[in-house]
Amino acid sequence: MHYDIVIIGGAIVGSSVAYYLREEGFSGSIALVERDPQFSRAATTLSCASIRQQFSIPENIRLSQFTLKLFRRLKEEFGADADIGFREGGYLILAGENGLPILRANHEAQMAEGADIVLEDAEALVRRFPWLSVEGITAGAYGRSGEGWFDAHAMLMLFRKALRSKNIDFITASVTGIERQGKRVAGVTLDNGERLEVGTVVNAAGPNAGKVAAMAGLALPVEPRKRNVFVFEAREKYDDMPLLVDPSGIYVRPEGSVYITGGAEPEEGEGPADPADFDPDWPLFEEVIWPVLATRIPAFEAIKPTRAWVGHYDYNTLDQNAVIGPHPEVGNFLFANGFSGHGLQQAPAVGKALAELIVHGGYRTVDCSAFGYSRIADGRPFRELNVI
Ligand SMILES: Cc1cc2nc3c(=O)[nH]c(=O)nc-3n(C[C@H](O)[C@H](O)[C@H](O)COP(=O)(O)OP(=O)(O)OC[C@H]3O[C@@H](n4cnc5c(N)ncnc54)[C@H](O)[C@@H]3O)c2cc1C
Repeated sequence: MHYDIVIIGGAIVGSSVAYYLREEGFSGSIALVERDPQFSRAATTLSCASIRQQFSIPENIRLSQFTLKLFRRLKEEFGADADIGFREGGYLILAGENGLPILRANHEAQMAEGADIVLEDAEALVRRFPWLSVEGITAGAYGRSGEGWFDAHAMLMLFRKALRSKNIDFITASVTGIERQGKRVAGVTLDNGERLEVGTVVNAAGPNAGKVAAMAGLALPVEPRKRNVFVFEAREKYDDMPLLVDPSGIYVRPEGSVYITGGAEPEEGEGPADPADFDPDWPLFEEVIWPVLATRIPAFEAIKPTRAWVGHYDYNTLDQNAVIGPHPEVGNFLFANGFSGHGLQQAPAVGKALAELIVHGGYRTVDCSAFGYSRIADGRPFRELNVI
């Protein structure tokens, strides 16, 4: 069996690449290979499904802005019943005295990209959000529009449904091997014993991307990192509450009638997670998160945790940023990996960019050159500072 393009991983990134390949007029054969067609363990469906403009580097802001535009014209793109429940609730990123220079520099980068973010001092923040305690806070950056949250599963299903009429072969299997012939990838083998001959391979394997690259003999510093998300109820309902990020890294936001929170994992000294570990670490909630929530929002002294889930970040250990585009030596192996916690909101832009690269030989809409693999080979980080 020969395919012009084999995409490994059929969640949001793989589906977006397939979708935009057809949108860009690619008429060759495409296989989308997915081992878990319910996506029960995919980062996509286990994510917090939020989108922001508040990044430190312009390239990341531009990727999110592409997706934001798509969200605003969702029905035009996917049909009248398309709905992902996008709620433009904003992000509020708080900083103490030490964090202020970075918050300010990030804000300047965001303003230069046209993002609607205001930087306010502690007094103004309390006027805007009377439920907030600004103990230890000097300032905060708040997204008045263009940021918020949505239903990740609904977004994935929109892409998957759209693919059904685009002549894509959906293959349910695990890729277990990738064959190289010199500087080319020649085929992939599946756990059902089949072998697919390939023109081009796209690695869209999320937290498993490092292992998939290794099958082709390529080094990619992307590994699974465990992230807990806790759900709690509170008597108080703050309809104006944005996704709030405390200087400690702990975040909280409303989710319908309840709240979700996380961000307690210490990144320093952390190693790859067991990809089969989906057990919530409740002590993180009790010992680390709750005290921070109660300090920042005094009404959250009395809350009731109800459930929790675990997902894995597709964590790029070099610089916590995406790796996009071809391997410089094995040119028919393309990366769309390492999003480190912000890949859901970047997936549509990255799908579009890779499709343009494949079909037209270069990026047209969003330039992803800065995310290229050469920095990995050179050990030259292209660092995103706002990793949440
Ligand atoms: C707790 C948590 C919160 C997050 N919050 C946000 C957020 O608010 N906003 C945001 O933008 N991003 C967020 N992210 C990050 C985001 O979810 C990911 O960056 C994004 O979903 C990556 O998409 P993907 O398609 O590359 O990976 P995945 O969704 O993990 O999909 C990869 C797919 O590849 C398949 N696969 C892997 N290996 C193979 C193989 N060998 N053969 C066949 N199939 C294979 C897997 O089964 C999987 O379905 C969060 C992540 C987590 C874990």
